[in-house]
Amino acid sequence: MLQTIGSQNRAIETRVEDERLNVIVCELSGVQRSILAKTLKNAGFNVFAAASAGEALALIRSGVGEILMTGLELPDSSGFELCWAVKADPDTAHVHTMVLSTHSDIGRLTNALDAGADDFLRKPLVEAEFHARMRAASRIVRLQQRLANEARRDALTGVANRRSFDSSLSRAMTEASQRGTPLSVCILDLDKFKLVNDTHGHTAGDAVLVEIARRARDFITNEEAFGRLGGEEFAFLLPGRTQDTARQRMDDFRQRVAATAVDIGTGTPLPVTASFGVATLYGDSDIEDAASLLNRADTALYEAKDRGRNRVCGG
Ligand code: GH3
Ligand code: MG
Ligand code: MG
Repeated sequence: MLQTIGSQNRAIETRVEDERLNVIVCELSGVQRSILAKTLKNAGFNVFAAASAGEALALIRSGVGEILMTGLELPDSSGFELCWAVKADPDTAHVHTMVLSTHSDIGRLTNALDAGADDFLRKPLVEAEFHARMRAASRIVRLQQRLANEARRDALTGVANRRSFDSSLSRAMTEASQRGTPLSVCILDLDKFKLVNDTHGHTAGDAVLVEIARRARDFITNEEAFGRLGGEEFAFLLPGRTQDTARQRMDDFRQRVAATAVDIGTGTPLPVTASFGVATLYGDSDIEDAASLLNRADTALYEAKDRGRNRVCGG
């Protein structure tokens, strides 16, 4: 039932589209920094000031900043090297990088583009050009955020897809081992789902998948996560839950699935059940990887199927 877990890509963190974009301004001169910060704030951006490449990189690596605006001369490095470092790291490569330089530096500006800068701004800044370039940068960042967001979602149900769930799981495992807290995962597999397709058609099957995902989304807390692993299999991520409390929580959801038949557009709602397999990682064991934790949940799921379906097993 479970395919091998792929590499744990860290997905680009996405932000809500109407949030202000964050710009990191990295400039040697404090006066220049303040002027830029003021101009950007007036243009509707949040601004984080950095006085060195090291400070800028620390901010970017902590997840702050969709746009980096940097001068070429920095106390600890150069603007080229800073752009290069940002673009070379897959976790930060999505940051839109802009270098600031004087008119006479055209040769250096083309070098900056080759080094990974996405755009440049010539000093002294011409206000209309500055705003136009910031609007262009914002369009690119928003588009990238939208694409990143779509790449994380399952197209049919809108919940997290397999890749996104895997990356949430590996992050949660790291946090659980750092904090010494338990972490449970649970795989949900719809019972006799092939029969739904065979009897009522694929569209009705799709309606069931969408409805189960909707109920799960309503059910989970902000700390928990839910995703579609593929086909009629979904998974829950339950931070802080021991085997027992995870099983109880999943039994609540099992009952929610079974209690209300699903409207498949035929006028006769369709009763649906699901089986659940839980596996728990305890804080003191840091030897297990995401794939083996999910494999344990899958084994528990097989047991739930074997024992008659519509039940939660594990532990
Ligand atoms: P079990 O209780 O043992 O899990 O039986 P099952 O019929 O649910 O399991 P099986 O693996 O035999 O069938 C899964 C079915 O799920 C087969 C496939 O056609 C269907 N399926 C997978 N993805 C989708 C989808 O996106 N939409 C629809 N409608 N059906 C899907
Ligand atoms: Mg299945
Ligand atoms: Mg099934």
